[in-house]
Amino acid sequence: MSGNTCAACDYELDENSVTVTLGGKTVEVCCEECATKLKEAFSAAASSKIG
Ligand SMILES: [Zn+2]
Repeated sequence: MSGNTCAACDYELDENSVTVTLGGKTVEVCCEECATKLKEAFSAAASSKIG
């Protein structure tokens, strides 16, 4: 249990990890695919709060 894991799929991060900023919070994911998933999930959650 050392190092970080992907914020989207819990895969262990390596040198190919991608940093994503969501709502001022920085998270790391294992690949661009997870980065996209996380951004979509965040924007869906954010838009549901509008109103
Ligand atoms: Zn991942």
